Amino acid sequence: MKNTHSSEINSSIGKSEKKNNKRPLRVGFPRALLYYKFYVLWTVFFETLGAKVIVSPLTNKEIKDVSVKSAPDEDCYSTKLYFGHVLFLKDKVDYFFIPRFSSDHRTDISCPKFIGLAEVLRSIFPDLPPILMPYYSKAKDGHGKIRLFKIAYSLGFKFTKNPFRILYSFVKSFRKYKQYHDDLYISEDELKRWEKDEFVFNKEISTTDGTNPFKIALVGHSYVINDSYASLRIKEMLLADNVEIITSEQLPKSVIEHQMSKLDFNMYFRYEREILGTVMHFLENETVDGILQLIVFSCGPDSIGGEMASRFSRRNQNVPLLQLTLDELSSEAGVRTRLEAFLDLIERRRKIKESEMICQ
Ligand code: SF4
Repeated sequence: MKNTHSSEINSSIGKSEKKNNKRPLRVGFPRALLYYKFYVLWTVFFETLGAKVIVSPLTNKEIKDVSVKSAPDEDCYSTKLYFGHVLFLKDKVDYFFIPRFSSDHRTDISCPKFIGLAEVLRSIFPDLPPILMPYYSKAKDGHGKIRLFKIAYSLGFKFTKNPFRILYSFVKSFRKYKQYHDDLYISEDELKRWEKDEFVFNKEISTTDGTNPFKIALVGHSYVINDSYASLRIKEMLLADNVEIITSEQLPKSVIEHQMSKLDFNMYFRYEREILGTVMHFLENETVDGILQLIVFSCGPDSIGGEMASRFSRRNQNVPLLQLTLDELSSEAGVRTRLEAFLDLIERRRKIKESEMICQ
């Protein structure tokens, strides 16, 4: 039944495509900030509508240089990089897609910069192609499924006149998005097994010499952890040193919420909850050798999360915490030196622990 339905829709889509041989409209999706959270959802949506999604390349030196020259000085480093990605795409697309996403939770919100960014860009660069900037906020405006349908249709009619095609694109993109999330988050059971050294997540890690590799929790915003240039290749350096990594993006939501319930205030920045919750979990359970927190220079939520993490870490010093603040002036060599010192510290601690166990 399900297949019949989707084949009917596909055939109706096919007929309308034959009538319309025009070049597909190009939607530019800057590879920065919320791209890393929502690229599956929106890429599938626009492509199923028949648009061509053009994503800017991975951040590189050219993009960074343009970003630093064009973005307001007071912006955080991640927002500055967004400017470079936008300017890279500027002459290559018919539309920009810059969602003004505030919240998908009753009380918690994401960074206010996500809401203002599209308007800021439009006012600084009036010659940009039209920006598609749907607004969604459950916390502030009580948005829910109806709002999502409205967004889907208001965007969809720019690319097709076929309402069934819009509905089909909407449903398909949400299914893919859910699948992506299911693959990204690990279950509580998986986490427990990983903590008992039953397996490793990263295929690059060798476990053949009989010793367990160092385990590090890498915490930070998804657009930092997953942007190799912005994070100064930290992930690659750790993997090259045979360090097993778990990221704050992977931790089960239940684990994060359990940690957040212990705070005597509500950490209402949605993504900062993931970061702080991961730090708290590993400080409490002591199931990693160290925690590496990537902080974005001049980020408001990170300044709160970073301070809280540092205080919690002072109370429990069994798991070392290294906080690295990243901005356009940070260098790979400087980070490498700090990372090496951190790994040396971890190694010394492990040796002390092992010798204590032998003595017992
Ligand atoms: S959360 Fe921080 S790093 Fe992210 S956009 Fe906001 S200020 Fe910048």
